[in-house]
Amino acid sequence: MPSAMDYSNNTTPTWCLGCGDFSVLRSLQGAAARLDIAPHNLAVVSGIGCSGRISGYLNVYGFHSIHGRALPVAQGIKLVNPELTVIAAGGDGDGFAIGTAHTIHAIRRNIDITYVVMNNQVYGLTKGHTSPLSTTGFITKSTPHGSIESPIKPGILALSAGATFVAQGFSGYQEQLVHILTKAILHKGFSFVNVFSPCVTFNKTNTYQWFREHLLNLDDIDNYDSHSLQSAMNQYLATDGLFTGILYENDDPDYYSKLPGERGSAVVHQNLDISDQFNQLME
Ligand code: SF4
Ligand code: MG
Repeated sequence: MPSAMDYSNNTTPTWCLGCGDFSVLRSLQGAAARLDIAPHNLAVVSGIGCSGRISGYLNVYGFHSIHGRALPVAQGIKLVNPELTVIAAGGDGDGFAIGTAHTIHAIRRNIDITYVVMNNQVYGLTKGHTSPLSTTGFITKSTPHGSIESPIKPGILALSAGATFVAQGFSGYQEQLVHILTKAILHKGFSFVNVFSPCVTFNKTNTYQWFREHLLNLDDIDNYDSHSLQSAMNQYLATDGLFTGILYENDDPDYYSKLPGERGSAVVHQNLDISDQFNQLME
């Protein structure tokens, strides 16, 4: 059984001390170790932003892609080599601004990959301006009087797009995050994990302390039914998205399982002609 550190390439992250992304990195390593995934069978694709550096800190296949495009790359990798465990990772700006369309279509396509969003509700790499997930009233250099826009609700967006697995974690709750990522990777289909990952440098509002005071843990709710879409919607809206745990999961068939006839198995087992699948990704 490997240890989490077997998935480290011993590169020292350049993240600010205390950045929530450290915990996401450790949690991914912990989940990979728990699942005993051989490093050569794991690929991590990242977008652009502070969080995008994560693919360079792992002893697995890594691809630091372009802004908002981690998901097309990750889906392409999974299509040509279905034997790989594929994880896409990026920030909230990456996934819900320039990459929003890819996020929506990747969710509804339901290819068997995991998407981890390191959500700090701000653009960290470009020095702290509002992201689409910044709260209304959030003061930054670009919004000195407070943001007047409404933030996207990532969980509601994912559920609306037909997500088959939606969860939320918090960098301050690493044990739960390892558990969530383990379940997300095991899920057969697209798994979406939104992680509250504080930016200690540019977001002085949504701090570790703030999250500890505001987050509800779904694991503490008796009889919460994560297989009910109605319950998931209600729970999300009731807490304004401030919770951790597995919000929703279902067993709908993944992309390959829905390919007609023998075409799907041909792709999976022989890596034959996949031009049609690529064309769909480019839509
Ligand atoms: Fe992390 Fe924020 Fe520093 Fe970027 S600027 S490394 S998100 S703490
Ligand atoms: Mg961000």
